Amino acid sequence: MRELSSLASFFWKYKLRLAAGFGFVVLSNYFNVLSPQITGFVIDHVQRALSLQGYQPPAAYAAYDTLVKLFIDWIRQWGSDVGVVVALCGAVILLLALLRGIFLFMMRQTLIVMSRYIEYEQKNQIFSHYQLLDTAFFREQRTGDLMNRITEDVSRVRMFTGPAVMYISNLVSVISLSLFFMFRRNVELTLYVLMPLPMLAIAIYYINNVIHRRSERIQETLSDLTTHAQEAYSGIRVVKAFAQEQALSGFFRKITAQYKKEVLGLVKVESLYFPSISLLIGLSTLLTIMIGGLYYIEGEQAISLSTIVEFVMYINMLTFPVSAIGLTASMIQRAAASQQRINEFLSIRPAVTDSPGATDQPLRGKITFNQVNFTYADTGIRALQDLSFSIEAGQKVAIVGRTGSGKSTLVQLLLRQFDVSSGQILIDEILLQQFKLRSLRSQIGYVPQDVFLFSDTVSANIGFGVASVDSQKVVQSARLACIDEEINELSAGYDTMVGERGVMLSGGQKQRISLARALLRDPAVLLLDDCMSAVDARTEQQISLGLKEYLSGKTAIIVTHRIFSLLEFDKVLVLDEGRLVEAGSPNDLLQAGGYYAEMYKRQQQEQASA
Ligand code: ATP
Ligand code: MG
Repeated sequence: MRELSSLASFFWKYKLRLAAGFGFVVLSNYFNVLSPQITGFVIDHVQRALSLQGYQPPAAYAAYDTLVKLFIDWIRQWGSDVGVVVALCGAVILLLALLRGIFLFMMRQTLIVMSRYIEYEQKNQIFSHYQLLDTAFFREQRTGDLMNRITEDVSRVRMFTGPAVMYISNLVSVISLSLFFMFRRNVELTLYVLMPLPMLAIAIYYINNVIHRRSERIQETLSDLTTHAQEAYSGIRVVKAFAQEQALSGFFRKITAQYKKEVLGLVKVESLYFPSISLLIGLSTLLTIMIGGLYYIEGEQAISLSTIVEFVMYINMLTFPVSAIGLTASMIQRAAASQQRINEFLSIRPAVTDSPGATDQPLRGKITFNQVNFTYADTGIRALQDLSFSIEAGQKVAIVGRTGSGKSTLVQLLLRQFDVSSGQILIDEILLQQFKLRSLRSQIGYVPQDVFLFSDTVSANIGFGVASVDSQKVVQSARLACIDEEINELSAGYDTMVGERGVMLSGGQKQRISLARALLRDPAVLLLDDCMSAVDARTEQQISLGLKEYLSGKTAIIVTHRIFSLLEFDKVLVLDEGRLVEAGSPNDLLQAGGYYAEMYKRQQQEQASA
């Protein structure tokens, strides 16, 4: 429960709404408890009028609320005609119901609306914390869990800040108000009548727990089911190509059968719920009538017919709030568990942060690696070992090497997606950590190896991350990336929606859009991670040709498996198993006759034969 105390600041922020909400709860219940009193008065009045002449004050006069007393005094002015009294009382009972309804409405408008505001703020709080965390965090977490924290956990907490708070305040006010008037009317009868209520609360609490446990299991099966269905749909081409429809539906049928079994089990427990409530409430009503009746017959305890009626009405009034105790308790438990997960998440500090006094000076582009080692924390793979090299500002550098040799890792270290395990990376002789993260990343253009497009228009994807994009510049970058013509052929040109992750486009088109996105920002340093692997050699050459001028004065690091582009590299770095095995100008490396020279020869032959 302690976890929920972190919500205090939210409640404090909405204290006026909360206070007003409590006020409305009390008012609605106040008008609610007056109606048994009016009913009691009418019964009393009618009873007396039929046997005695003239006005008699009701037996329970002293026990009634001041407002009811005022009403009774006022009604005397109208004489004691039974018809008039009954009609007036009927009207007043209607009026009370109306008032109660109005305040119930206001209660929801304040408390539930407050919980929605809190939900909104919490979602934003979590989302902005996600944005702070580094790549390492996201590698360890499944997307589903991340989504859950924003949707499921927050909505469970909302069940506390909204409905649970409402039920609790309702419970407290209805119990205290009705008990107050019941005790004032008759202490002994009240005690008898209340006996079954604790049992009711406990029974409901237990049934609720069972229901909760079962629904959790059902939720899990359901999310299993959705995950599999989702995968089957998005991978439908693979499924069909491998003729796995049958196997898949068989598997699906098994999960749905499991789901059906669990749901039917839940229905059984749920159907126990209302009968057990009715049973216990019935018991209270029975006790009221039986014990009240006995007292009445024996003329003890000053109990009249109206007392019994009033008590039956009070009992009914207590039914819902008391039966909601169990529900509320499990709501609070769940909210506490969810809030605990949220708190844990919010307390995670990102590993990659701005160091104090970080600068945001413009980059010129000299890059130095000094004895850099990097090990992936989650797998323990040593991706880079003792890496040292330097690149002058404005140089174009190719990084080549076998798959898994650490090329992408190197590029990501430059962006501080991760921090080095040991050694130093410097830009313009300044340690990478001494740059403001935002400033560093905004001055580096990066085309990742695995392209990601957002489900948005082509131009929004190219202009991603740039405030107020100029459509002229978008077209310009698209031309540089040699994708402009193909975009114009799309149904809506630059305004074409690319579909989820860009499914509407070919692999090569996606890569070039991703390239255009990096070029648009006009960065001082450009990192291209094998970003033309799906583009044919001729188009690649065309792009390289176009980039020549664009790249003048910029530092560019280009990871590639094809060295036969028209771009002239100042330097080539060859990586093997995380180590730098060759470095130098292309000519030097050709002379040396290592990996690069071999690669060069092979590709030259390929080109000649093509
Ligand atoms: P490719 O040419 O296939 O893109 P690469 O040279 O870019 O390969 P890297 O992606 O840098 O290679 O990977 C270097 C090593 O680090 C590999 O052994 C790889 O398995 C490992 N590795 C890469 N990314 C991660 C990660 N996120 N977590 C753990 N290990 C990783
Ligand atoms: Mg790679």
